[in-house]
Amino acid sequence: MPAQIIDGKEIAKKILEKMKQEVSTLQKKPGLAAVIVGDNPASKIYVGMKRKTCEKAGIYSEEHKLPEKTTQEELLKLIRKLNEDEKIHAILVQLPLPQHISSEKVFSEVLLQKDVDGFSPVNVGRLVAGNENSVPCTPKGIIRILEETGIEIAGANAVVVGRSNIVGKPVASMLLNRNATVTVCHSKTKNLGEITKQADILIAAVGKPGMITEDMVKEGAAVVDVGINKTGNELVGDVDFEKVKEKAAWITPVPGGVGPMTVAMLLENTLSRYREIEK
Ligand code: NDP
Repeated sequence: MPAQIIDGKEIAKKILEKMKQEVSTLQKKPGLAAVIVGDNPASKIYVGMKRKTCEKAGIYSEEHKLPEKTTQEELLKLIRKLNEDEKIHAILVQLPLPQHISSEKVFSEVLLQKDVDGFSPVNVGRLVAGNENSVPCTPKGIIRILEETGIEIAGANAVVVGRSNIVGKPVASMLLNRNATVTVCHSKTKNLGEITKQADILIAAVGKPGMITEDMVKEGAAVVDVGINKTGNELVGDVDFEKVKEKAAWITPVPGGVGPMTVAMLLENTLSRYREIEK
């Protein structure tokens, strides 16, 4: 039987409606500041999309676009200013940053209460220790998709392909926190297909179009495709969707799967930063 296609857009829409409702009851508007350094076209699209969604939900948002040649000190100065700004409850620094800027230094400077993406070293450590007070938006969106779909995480064999700091590692920690048995694969993993074939839950976060083929997937698995790859004018994921959907029990599409959930989680995280600051 073909897989059920998980409609991330629909799940995100419901979350956004709930957010909008909640925000409308607040005395003061929650505020998000998005900081983008350089000319990465994908970053500009993501930040623009995030801002628009915030505005729709009634969240105040501002965008700080800095040139590629911005020095680390200049960026840190802006972060300090945003830390002090009472209109701003959440600070998002869009990755990637130019090579001459240390993302660790930048995320260390963001006030913990305003760390909307959970990228500060303290929040990274907290997540590993089981405290999910502030976690990155994409991993949070992946977990929410699984939970909303009723996929059992506890006891499942979960395989994460990709070990980046923004997706692979944090989602692996979140799966472990929910008692899955977790394997993390990367570019040096041997016999990748043998490992992915064991997965009840397979998360693909690599950035290589169609690299997860049907022979790498267990019958009845839940497959979450995080990849966003541009091939010609089309956006495709890391999973060979058409073939894998014939074998899996659940699958997320690209677009319309994890992407919209990432934005919804950003709004949720902004609101939780607001509640922590304004309590
Ligand atoms: P990174 O490039 O930072 O990480 C990619 C990971 O894939 C690395 O760990 C790398 O291994 C691993 N990898 C590369 N080639 C292989 C291979 N042949 N076999 C197994 N593993 C491999 O990417 P991100 O984590 O930032 O993003 C991954 C994808 O998700 C991208 O397509 C990105 O656009 C998308 N994305 C989507 C989001 C959304 O909202 N839907 C949000 C963020 C990202 P190694 O560590 O050894 O180099």
